Amino acid sequence: MNEMRERTLIDLFKALDGIYGANYECKHYPCHFSGQDCTFCYCPFYPCLLYDLGGEIVLSSQGEYVWSCKGCTWIHEKENVENVIFVLGRYPKQRLVEEDWWFFNRILQELFYGEVYGEELENGYNLMPAVLRNKECEEMDRVEFLAVRIYDFEILEVRRISSLEEMDGEVAIPLKEGREIYGIDRNGRKVMCKL
Ligand code: SF4
Repeated sequence: MNEMRERTLIDLFKALDGIYGANYECKHYPCHFSGQDCTFCYCPFYPCLLYDLGGEIVLSSQGEYVWSCKGCTWIHEKENVENVIFVLGRYPKQRLVEEDWWFFNRILQELFYGEVYGEELENGYNLMPAVLRNKECEEMDRVEFLAVRIYDFEILEVRRISSLEEMDGEVAIPLKEGREIYGIDRNGRKVMCKL
């Protein structure tokens, strides 16, 4: 298990044991907004790959693709923190240690969208139906989107592809350019949508 995931599970278990809330002693407080809940300084769903929460893929100073959560306030809102604790608290801790990114991502989809819209494919996992739903979209002749390889809650590789057949065990998400996202919707249409 990587170091960041270990840190994340420590935060999660503290929360499940009832230690949570704002951390006024933290030198970074408030890193997102005044009155925020700091329970999940390390988000249990990281990297969620769901633009709707405010995150996005960026290139780090080391030239690696990472998921940036700078724009996400969802995990710092008290009501959401309580819901996350309630849902994850139903599982034995050992199971939470052993479960993979897909398990946590499905739980986040249920919490945020009300149901799981991601699709299991033979050659990967398609998150585009979740991210593109209920958006204002226009049909395009051709689109490129992203195939993100995840291992142990880390992004190992990101590549642009233009059809789901090109996937090789990755997670498909729309390509984001500013406030526009490009991908294939649940009806198979190539679309550009507004975030
Ligand atoms: S964008 Fe928000 S919910 Fe997603 S991984 Fe980051 S902090 Fe967690």
